Amino acid sequence: MQYSRRDFLKHSAGSALAANIGLAGTANAKVQIGDALIDVVSDGSLTLPGNFIFGPMPQDELAPLLAKYNQPIDQLTPPCNVTLLRSEGRTVLFDVGSGPDFAPNSGILLDSLDALGVAPEDVTDIVFTHAHPDHLWGLLDDFDDPLFPEASYMIGKKEWDYWMDPNTVDTIGDARVPFAVGAQRRLETIEDNISFFTDGQEILTGVAARQSFGHTPGHMAFEVNSGSESVMIVGDSIGNHHIAFERPDWPSGPDQDQDVAAQTRIGLLDQLAHSKMQVIGYHLSGNGLGRVEKTGSGYRFLKED
Ligand SMILES: [Zn+2]
Repeated sequence: MQYSRRDFLKHSAGSALAANIGLAGTANAKVQIGDALIDVVSDGSLTLPGNFIFGPMPQDELAPLLAKYNQPIDQLTPPCNVTLLRSEGRTVLFDVGSGPDFAPNSGILLDSLDALGVAPEDVTDIVFTHAHPDHLWGLLDDFDDPLFPEASYMIGKKEWDYWMDPNTVDTIGDARVPFAVGAQRRLETIEDNISFFTDGQEILTGVAARQSFGHTPGHMAFEVNSGSESVMIVGDSIGNHHIAFERPDWPSGPDQDQDVAAQTRIGLLDQLAHSKMQVIGYHLSGNGLGRVEKTGSGYRFLKED
């Protein structure tokens, strides 16, 4: 019997890890928008030092807000929620998770897809919100070959230009150099099979790109629309379900341009609250699906399962 690369992957890192952390088969969220079936599937979770997110915030005001959400100040374990859209014979992923090399409790996307009967070769299109490791690095397998062999790729033009610029590694700052090196190495492998879009463009039937800069220089969100039904895939432009909603104006550590990211966050929350449309956030709690409600002083995430 021939032992394929796929078998090797299936029986090594992915499955063992998913079994270890008990995440395989985690319940996923489903949304139907017209003919499009949307599932939110898990790539696991990250474990981050609190300071990475909360460092730049006013600490005295921060403490009572975190207490309200039972969120410790020293550590976060955000989920990673990948959006799968199936419509008109296409199978589309929005981001591809961390892959095997980034973080211990992430990289389980293949198992989550398998639970829905979706094989890597079924994926026809991969759309990136941005090129951070937990969204991009799942592109390649352990052998550095594309993990989704039949897929074509799409990314915002500005995001591509930023990470592929040879100067980025020198200008991004020491802490983010591994992001720059890692992004460029991976994007180079799909250079011949990727197309670009800009704000407002309809990238697939009923899917419009929405500029949401700040978290990264070219971060994009996506609005999926059919008739009166719609959902917005916001990636990391609304990065958590507590402070990003309570105080969207505060600087947040992971955002590369914290001022621009805050303006983007406020604009999106305002639109989402006003329109009452559903939202899927890559790191929002549970499976990242919910709605946004305006409160007296800020916003609140209404989780939907
Ligand atoms: Zn992220």
